[in-house]
Amino acid sequence: MNWDETGPDTDTDQRLVGSGADGEDQAVEAALRPKDLDEFVGQEKVREQLDLVLRAARARGATADHVLLSGAPGLGKTTLSMIIAAEMNAPIRITSGPAIQHAGDLAAILSSLQEGEVLFLDEIHRMSRPAEEMLYMAMEDFRVDVIVGKGPGATAIPLELPPFTLVGATTRAGLLPPPLRDRFGFTGHMEFYEPAELERVIHRSARLLDVEIDVEGAAEIAGRSRGTPRIANRLLRRVRDYAQVKADGVINRDIAAAALKVYEVDARGLDRLDRAVLGALLKLFGGGPVGLSTLAVAVGEERETVEEVAEPFLVREGLLARTPRGRVATPAAWAHLGLVPPQQGQGGSGQQGLFRA
Ligand code: ADP
Repeated sequence: MNWDETGPDTDTDQRLVGSGADGEDQAVEAALRPKDLDEFVGQEKVREQLDLVLRAARARGATADHVLLSGAPGLGKTTLSMIIAAEMNAPIRITSGPAIQHAGDLAAILSSLQEGEVLFLDEIHRMSRPAEEMLYMAMEDFRVDVIVGKGPGATAIPLELPPFTLVGATTRAGLLPPPLRDRFGFTGHMEFYEPAELERVIHRSARLLDVEIDVEGAAEIAGRSRGTPRIANRLLRRVRDYAQVKADGVINRDIAAAALKVYEVDARGLDRLDRAVLGALLKLFGGGPVGLSTLAVAVGEERETVEEVAEPFLVREGLLARTPRGRVATPAAWAHLGLVPPQQGQGGSGQQGLFRA
């Protein structure tokens, strides 16, 4: 395998419950990655569909169609691309959209691919425009035009490429321009994982890391992992540290809960920042509606941090709603922080009305 630049998923999100990969994740993940489709937990639909695509290609003795995988960070897109390569018995090259700033960068990668090789392009929606246009032709005709020279004297030299399989990954397929989206033979939408699936991921990882964990311990970690295997594996490692230092190394429910209390990850997977945002919304603004900037100032964070780091999960969990009038807490938010919403007519600046059926 070949890593271009820093490898995929260099998210700057360093929180324990952040879904991007930090340095430690990148080092450990190689050991924890499922190696084939049977080992890959959950995502039944994508797995079944991909299995058909790969079997058919193998039966034809052909290179597999280009595959687009959409879904949040940490759900297994890189892992699936490696599985595709393994199932096709092909080498894999890994790079990412932000690493390809010039068409020439892409031309260099494409022209060095071997026949049948899998090219994994993470964050494909962040590729530069000229590179994207070069990719269209490469995907369709296995050919690129390399431009030599500048200005009126520039000439395009066509370059034949060996057939390859592009596996593109993006957080949302809707971010891709339609001409690019249409060139993929298959699009797999990765969903967040159910707690029972995350328990299976945790048991599997614990076996590989040689950590003893019981059923309830795994359930406790799974419930706090925000539907994301990467977070489940990371929390497992932190709980393992705690179990080694404070107990006999064995993880059960009490140990997992105590460890994650130390790391400020609550029973629903909210961390300090999430709770600060929710707490300010409830305690200072009676549950809203309140504008994003005001909320950000109240928690001493940047607008972007609140909007991009904390809110997506709070919205997904049904704890916070973004309305045209501002951010509003849902009844579940009051319950989660153990607070009582103000009575109708008192405070709350009309938020009850927003939730009346
Ligand atoms: P993405 O590319 O979507 O950000 P990765 O493929 O890098 O996610 O997966 C992150 C981590 O989660 C890896 O260590 C991988 O082992 C684990 N993982 C992801 N999906 C699964 C799965 N379905 N079963 C088991 N482990 C998984």
